[in-house]
Amino acid sequence: MTGCVLCPRRCPADRSRAEGACGVGEDLLVGSIVIHRGEEPPLVTGAGSGAVFFSGCPLKCAYCQNSRISHQAFGKTVTESELASFMLLLQDCGCSNINLVSPTHFAPGIIRSLTLAREQGLDLPVMLNSSGYESIESLERWEGHADLFLMDLKYGDNETGKLLSRVADYWDRAREAVAYLWEKGGALCVDENGRALSGLIVRHLVLPGMRSNPFAVLEFLAGLSLDIPVSIMSQYNPSFYSGTLAEMSRTVSPGEYEVVLEKAVDFGFATIYAQEMDSIENYTPDFASDTPFGDGLKIF
Ligand code: SF4
Repeated sequence: MTGCVLCPRRCPADRSRAEGACGVGEDLLVGSIVIHRGEEPPLVTGAGSGAVFFSGCPLKCAYCQNSRISHQAFGKTVTESELASFMLLLQDCGCSNINLVSPTHFAPGIIRSLTLAREQGLDLPVMLNSSGYESIESLERWEGHADLFLMDLKYGDNETGKLLSRVADYWDRAREAVAYLWEKGGALCVDENGRALSGLIVRHLVLPGMRSNPFAVLEFLAGLSLDIPVSIMSQYNPSFYSGTLAEMSRTVSPGEYEVVLEKAVDFGFATIYAQEMDSIENYTPDFASDTPFGDGLKIF
């Protein structure tokens, strides 16, 4: 952490002394821990997904719905041993996996926590729930520690990443990351109860006016494999948008969303997860509430 290169920004900040571009120093900072029932179906069997939301983020998305945690780095410092205990508690609560939300900038400490938790009996699949802005080097760190990969592919070009997430190379890095994980982890593997055990799911949030370039995202994924499960999301919430683009001040229209779904069907993807158009109401978190996602339970 003295010359941080944990994400593709490669600052390289000395996080033992100051925050990097991700907004956090070296101590593990957790924004919330929630039993989350709103992830894709194979991820929420049993009590739900055991989600640990880490504070700070290498991206600065202008429409982030978790901005209190990601941009303002709201959260509590936990030790590696405390984080391991929370993981075991999530397992005791019947969660189907440990869902590490935006963990990249804390990878070494989280991996040490996971090792401790495994020694103490954790046997759930562990999921990397990532913005997609990863380097191959950062993904290699998780080998032997993470089983499932829930990866955003936010934009189908670099320009939009620069405009909306303040990094110049989102599309380049995210494509490399998804291709690497597909090659390494392969298809989604589920048990007899439909619980995901390993593999890759890719998410794309459709932005108003097709700003996210969804067709390019689908074309790229289709070129890799039609067996990659794609989760196409409609939940863009303009109330979080802090920029000046006029089209971002509205929700995605049903017509826009349907066109993207139809394109995915036309490509022939074997598994497509879709959302209802009222998903904004159901998936906008309120981390101050005891039930941040409307149901499920906040542990921390
Ligand atoms: S994890 Fe943070 S400090 Fe490290 S390279 Fe990325 S943005 Fe910079």
